[in-house]
Amino acid sequence: MFLMSGTPAVCPLGNGPAYVRLDNVSKFFSSARAVFQLTVGIGKGEFFSLLGPSGCGKTTTLRLIAGLERPDQGAVSIGGEVVASADTWVSPEKRGIGIVFQDYALFPHMTVGQNVAFGLKGCGRAQAKSRVEELLELTGLAGLAGRYPHELSGGQRQRVALARSLAPRPSVILLDEPFSNLDADLREELRRETKRILKEQGATTILVTHDQEEAFSLSDRVGVLQGGTLEQLGSPAEIYHRPASRFVADFVGKADFIDGTVEDGTVRSTFGSFPLDDSAGIGTKQVELMVRPDDVSFVPDAAGQATVTEARFLGASVLYQLQFTDGRAIHSIRPSAEVTPVGSRVSVKVDASHIVIFPKDNA
Ligand code: ATP
Repeated sequence: MFLMSGTPAVCPLGNGPAYVRLDNVSKFFSSARAVFQLTVGIGKGEFFSLLGPSGCGKTTTLRLIAGLERPDQGAVSIGGEVVASADTWVSPEKRGIGIVFQDYALFPHMTVGQNVAFGLKGCGRAQAKSRVEELLELTGLAGLAGRYPHELSGGQRQRVALARSLAPRPSVILLDEPFSNLDADLREELRRETKRILKEQGATTILVTHDQEEAFSLSDRVGVLQGGTLEQLGSPAEIYHRPASRFVADFVGKADFIDGTVEDGTVRSTFGSFPLDDSAGIGTKQVELMVRPDDVSFVPDAAGQATVTEARFLGASVLYQLQFTDGRAIHSIRPSAEVTPVGSRVSVKVDASHIVIFPKDNA
């Protein structure tokens, strides 16, 4: 059980040398701040995601790295070279970056082969032809070189966009919500494929997404943005199990927040009392306990402290709402092999090792 009383100490530049680096970068549009004093380092070959709600500054950050926006403050470096600062500017085409956009941005009048070859202008004909063939093979598009974009499915178009961005062998690939136009099954398959291809190519990848499942399933590390600043940086597991703030806890995964009190090293709440690992100097405090549904289990028990008030069948699992006698409710997710009917009285158990505690704002 953890008490989060501030952002955990993490090095925003990572532990190893950063390949892509933002140092104290800010970007304003008129008076609105899109990105504010952002410092983050992404290691060579890392798959990194910027995760956050609409308008938090994800795309602007990506555009600052690509050179499609100039920072108002701070510096951007790639491969140890400053590419944007108060007195330096390296144009986008000289940054060694490939970009895949949400709408793929393919040239409609060019075939698949011509689209992929677009960035290979400096190469000899034979070399370009062999690179295009290699990429079409890699992305599962062999045989489709002569088709036009309108003759392809959404998934195939996304693969062409990926192949085109990889053609000039960029050291950094930026992905701006590239899977959001695809249906669920295809999205899952293409995420896995894309990760395999990018890891195989050794590319440093930065993905922008508002979808936490996508960020978690693909990334080595995730940066959660809010209001243009970094709210938390860590591995997917750290962000899920140890959210640094109430905002991250709420944004990432489903969670219930239950009022409680810390007193004499113990947390008391509706669903039980638990010893707090490190309560030194806390005294008495009003807190909120964050409980994830996967950490809540229950068994039918006529003398139990809660009642099942809702059971939502999700396929492999069932999401239950359990209401305590004082009216408070929490959720529990359980395998769907056995369904406990609504109205059942149950005894609830919460895995205390995963509970995270936040001080109440006004406490
Ligand atoms: P979304 O997920 O909706 O794409 P985002 O997290 O990528 O959002 P940004 O597109 O980076 O967010 O925008 C951050 C903030 O900057 C928003 O308030 C947006 O309205 C503003 N903004 C972005 N681009 C411009 C622009 N060219 N002119 C004015 N304001 C802009």
